Amino acid sequence: MKDCIFCKIIQGDIPCIKVYENDRVFAFMDINPVADGHTLIIPKAHAENIFEIPADDLAAIHVASKRIADGIRKALNTTGIACLQLNGKGVNQIVMHYHLHLIPRRPGSPELPMTKWELVSGNMTRIKEIGEKIASAVK
Ligand code: AMP
Ligand code: ZN
Repeated sequence: MKDCIFCKIIQGDIPCIKVYENDRVFAFMDINPVADGHTLIIPKAHAENIFEIPADDLAAIHVASKRIADGIRKALNTTGIACLQLNGKGVNQIVMHYHLHLIPRRPGSPELPMTKWELVSGNMTRIKEIGEKIASAVK
């Protein structure tokens, strides 16, 4: 898609540090890494987010994420890898081409902010009501 920075990366119009590609997906290093090894996996066919991406591309990304996570773990001796994926401006998606973040943590490195939130007990009535609403909306 014209004016999409990630489409330009796939086409080679913008440089990147590529770590993997196959017929459906492309993976490269994030240039504003949250931690060493921060990698992005994207579909080659432009799709904005989880609401748009076809199931085959989504599956291909998640199969590739295992291969790449295995590589990151082997290369960097990680203690864990967070997989993060944002959909929509309301959750601060900045690049509107679907991407899965793989963000590793290494021994002794700081806690990843997106993996550490305070557990606060919820209101079970509200949780149940919302869960039932979602369940009836899922096709
Ligand atoms: P978000 O849309 O918030 O999930 O994040 C977009 C991610 O894309 C950010 O982590 C950016 O650092 C990353 N990013 C933006 N432009 C580039 C680029 N040219 N090469 C690599 N990563 C990029
Ligand atoms: Zn794109």
